[in-house]
Amino acid sequence: MLDARSAFAPSLPGTCQVCAAWPSQPVCEACIQRFAPARARCLACAAVLPDEQLVCGACHTRPDAPAVQRCVAAVDYAYPWDGLIARFKFRSEPGWAQPFAQQLLSAPHTTELLQTQPLVVPIPLTATRLGERGYNQAWELVKALHALWRRRTPTLPFETLATALVRLGETPDQHSLGREARLRNLRGAFAAHPSHAHRLPGRHVLLVDDVTTTGATLHTAAQALLQAGADRVSALVFARTPPNR
Ligand SMILES: [Zn+2]
Ligand SMILES: [Zn+2]
Repeated sequence: MLDARSAFAPSLPGTCQVCAAWPSQPVCEACIQRFAPARARCLACAAVLPDEQLVCGACHTRPDAPAVQRCVAAVDYAYPWDGLIARFKFRSEPGWAQPFAQQLLSAPHTTELLQTQPLVVPIPLTATRLGERGYNQAWELVKALHALWRRRTPTLPFETLATALVRLGETPDQHSLGREARLRNLRGAFAAHPSHAHRLPGRHVLLVDDVTTTGATLHTAAQALLQAGADRVSALVFARTPPNR
């Protein structure tokens, strides 16, 4: 039987998984230009901005100080990225981490965040989910980013930590919930790992995840990091759900 993991090898020449151009990277340059054009995004939540503001209206009027100070996203969670992310997460194709990390590195402001030499940590999965999937896609993204950055910017290395956070228990499915309901749903969902909490005080921590929808997961995880003494928290996500979805 063909193993899905070995069937997908993004380092080898193949066809574009979107338009079938050959030979190509997993997503060809033309498809990246077409489906992931560089767009101005809110510095705080990565929502696409209609004009030349720095932050979106929602972030501008938010009364509380956000736990995540800066958020960068590479693409909108829409065609073709939604389907490719589903393959990355649900069809045992962790190799997508490499092309996704490449796109994250090209997104405006990613370099600026990584140049501060943050401690880069993934949003963790629950133990049950990790057992089913066999890998945490967010950690795969962190590792791919680290490898690309080390090659590109060897003089400014950043540290990574797979288990800075632990996910406490199962949280009910969030798909149909709005931001407030998601925040309630996630209350207490994350904690700093007791064995690694000593690495957090005073650090700029950069959270990495594959997708953000309302930002509730990033916010809750960032609160746990700040409580453990992190100086500030930023986030890098591959895809952000457009506000109207
Ligand atoms: Zn293509
Ligand atoms: Zn915003």
